[in-house]
Amino acid sequence: MELKKKVEMMDIAFLNTTKQALLKDHLEPALQKQEKTFIVTANPEIVMKTREDEEYKQIVQSADYVIADGIGIVKASAIKKQPLQERIPGFELMVDLLDYADEKGLRCYFLGAREDVSEKTVQTVAKNFPDLVIAGHHHGFFDLDDERIAADIKRAQPDLIFVALGLPRQEQWIARYLDIFDKGLFMGVGGSFDTLTGEVPRAPKFWIDLNLEWFYRLLKQPFRWKRILKVFTFMFLILFKRE
Ligand code: UDP
Repeated sequence: MELKKKVEMMDIAFLNTTKQALLKDHLEPALQKQEKTFIVTANPEIVMKTREDEEYKQIVQSADYVIADGIGIVKASAIKKQPLQERIPGFELMVDLLDYADEKGLRCYFLGAREDVSEKTVQTVAKNFPDLVIAGHHHGFFDLDDERIAADIKRAQPDLIFVALGLPRQEQWIARYLDIFDKGLFMGVGGSFDTLTGEVPRAPKFWIDLNLEWFYRLLKQPFRWKRILKVFTFMFLILFKRE
């Protein structure tokens, strides 16, 4: 079966690559050239949101890279006989980018999460990635119309901007302010700061290997059940409606 470079599902074109190839062939060269880059790590919830909200759909479609974060997306691509090579978890991609930033001494900005998690995020990063430069950080509970946040971030001249505002806010913020920046790799990272700081532990490897990370998360955070329901709706549409 021919492997397509991009796999389109519900009008969203996912890059069909591995995490390693994404880093080596796309993101690291973009960082070296200081090219502005917008990454969406999309799970079934994000895809379902694009069906409900046309403006959000256009934002996701405007990203330079849409990556399959979520086993539901990978399974759906196999069902549609256009298999994606692998799942690329946003959290792992963020950690690999932090590693690269550490190696090259790049500047990183951390936007989002609760105030205490935001503080803890930069402490954790400073400890584990001592050679990258922390350009700044700000919690995620502000008005999206507040232009000062973006202006402050621009002044900090970051090479990488991790945006942990949850969906759809993180993609909306990036799309709204991308134009004012001259450079930067922008990536929505959802709850990754909570994971990095141990606030919400990641599933043990055993669960991840069994493709049950989503279920582990549901057990740890049962209030997320409504969101998991979206994953089932997504799978239903793929399986029975041939979307
Ligand atoms: N968050 C934020 N501002 C908001 C809403 C959420 O900074 O207005 C943060 C929240 O504290 C968490 C992250 O965004 O750190 C989103 O977490 P969630 O687990 O909902 O993300 P997911 O990965 O499921 O999108």
